[in-house]
Amino acid sequence: MSDSNDTIFGKIIRREIPADIVYEDDLCLAFRDVQPQAPTHFLVIPKKHISMLAEATSDDHAVLGHMLLKAKQVAADLGLEKGYRVVIINGEDGGQTVYHLHIHVLGGRALAWPPG
Ligand code: 5GP
Repeated sequence: MSDSNDTIFGKIIRREIPADIVYEDDLCLAFRDVQPQAPTHFLVIPKKHISMLAEATSDDHAVLGHMLLKAKQVAADLGLEKGYRVVIINGEDGGQTVYHLHIHVLGGRALAWPPG
């Protein structure tokens, strides 16, 4: 199904374009970022289209918590035992480019702070 809210991530959910999927369940999907910014860089997205964190509502309470717990589970499964960074980019000033909510998980090297 396609709608006006559709993005490239919707196409990944529907397997219309390929992705290196590392986890999937009824509520969310995790796959490796196509332009990794660290040795391990994956995204966790809800299967429900939510354009950005600012658009989430109280109805999304469960899926948001679920995504965060799956982010830590997949990070552990991928061997990020020394730590990792979890990032949600929201809107224009945040630098968001794909308007389907996603959690970035980056690890596999020491990361600097603050970001640019
Ligand atoms: P943001 O919207 O938070 O700035 O980042 C979107 C992220 O999605 C970027 O890190 C970008 O590399 C990633 N991305 C964009 N298009 C694709 C795609 O088609 N496949 C995958 N695996 N990642 C993508």
